[in-house]
Amino acid sequence: LPALVVNDAQWRPEGTPHAVPGFGGPPQTRKLPAHCEVLASSAERTAADGQRYAIHLRLRLPLAWNGRFLYQGGGGSNGVVGDALSGSGLDQGYAVLAQDSGHDNARNNDPQRNQELVFGFDPQARADYGHASLKPTAEAGLAWVERFYGKAAKHRYFSGCSKGGQEGMAFAQRYPEVFDGIVAAAPGFALPKAALAEMWDTQQFGRLVADPATGRVELGKLATAFTGPQLKAVRAAILEACDADDGLADGIVGDLRRCTPAKVRARLVPRTCPGGADCLSPAQIEALSASLQGPRNKSGQALYSTWFWPSGIDDAGWRIWKIGGEGGMPPALNVLLGSRAMASVFSTPPVALPPGPQGGLDYAMAFDFERDAPAIHTVAAPFTRSPWQDVGMRDPNLSAFQRRGGKLIVPHGESDPVFSLADTLAWFDEANTLAKGRAAEFVRVFPVPGMAHCGGGPATDEYDALAAVVRWVEQGQPPASLVATRIEGDAPRFTRRLCPFPQSARFDGRGDPADAASW
Ligand code: CA
Repeated sequence: LPALVVNDAQWRPEGTPHAVPGFGGPPQTRKLPAHCEVLASSAERTAADGQRYAIHLRLRLPLAWNGRFLYQGGGGSNGVVGDALSGSGLDQGYAVLAQDSGHDNARNNDPQRNQELVFGFDPQARADYGHASLKPTAEAGLAWVERFYGKAAKHRYFSGCSKGGQEGMAFAQRYPEVFDGIVAAAPGFALPKAALAEMWDTQQFGRLVADPATGRVELGKLATAFTGPQLKAVRAAILEACDADDGLADGIVGDLRRCTPAKVRARLVPRTCPGGADCLSPAQIEALSASLQGPRNKSGQALYSTWFWPSGIDDAGWRIWKIGGEGGMPPALNVLLGSRAMASVFSTPPVALPPGPQGGLDYAMAFDFERDAPAIHTVAAPFTRSPWQDVGMRDPNLSAFQRRGGKLIVPHGESDPVFSLADTLAWFDEANTLAKGRAAEFVRVFPVPGMAHCGGGPATDEYDALAAVVRWVEQGQPPASLVATRIEGDAPRFTRRLCPFPQSARFDGRGDPADAASW
């Protein structure tokens, strides 16, 4: 890393309190194990537009070290340095590194140019976000680990979800020598194309609530495109069509490949009845179908991917992205985050939207898939690479990672509203073809029925993919399945087996259905 400066290095004694945000409640405090916390920055520079950029890092070096290095992936548009705890990674003795990928949401924040997405206007900051910051920060972390402990890390791991999953894919595809094992969950490896889907979905759902006279869509109205009972009715139709295919009608659609769109629609159409809170109009069913078909241009060419019918569609984890929470709070994340990211980071040239969320909605509604979508592939000065070249990490060729003995685990929720599981499975099929049918020797994708983006939804969303990849790397035991737990409140309710695609879990018809061993 150029011009690396250690800004702070502090010994944190055993029991050092650390506040973690409470979801829907007050912040919780956890106690950390004894470790050294290092904060550093590098590559400080002034961009052509006057923004000051740098890459910021945090490394935690535990006293009770397990000999392993763990790189914690980012999230969303990054711009914050992760906590370098990686869940319970530090507690388990990993030396954990996190970084902000070269921009700082507090400092690089221009209200006239898409707020904290302003980094999309600078070629280097965009490349650092896409992938360029990854390998140098990993090497800096590994060097510090070696100096601190007096010996190199015995094994090196990466774990991340969403943008972090994209980063794991970047390591597997572009920098395969760095990590022995990678967990790339809900990988945003086609982020620019998924952003096109966000524009597409906003148009499908926005048209349902547009002012009939002006065609204009108000942000507050978008959340009324579907009522809660209507989305529950869609889930009911999906369950009616597909739930029992895995051997048990239990609210979990375990056999995704048999859950075809035609099967679901056949159950949905009879629900179009006049009146009644849970009835869907034909226009609503068409909007949902168009959304699940994915964005297309006028000649019918698919611009991203299809989607599975999301069995968790009535969960907040689906609707807050697509249309916004009930009552309109929060407004749709596809608008709040998606529009500005599309305009700033995934378009060349980048476009400054009017400040405020309504500007993002107006942009999405006016997005033209003939005129505007090709901007994800455009190279134009000062950008020498397209957004897709900088951020897209969907290469199915993993041969270098395979050759160095790397192992890759990819969990992904079936009801993820941000990145399509269908796209991840299509990528695996391509990787498997390239690997002559032997991809499972080094990469396994674990669909999680019902799970939303990185967690949540009517799903068994608690599982330990990192432990699984460690066993695969260090003991040569590939994960035949992951045991996943459904937690309600604080209590585990039941467990299920997550199976590597194309396998799926099937009830044995005899045992306790609440026990993964019966699947
Ligand atoms: Ca089932």
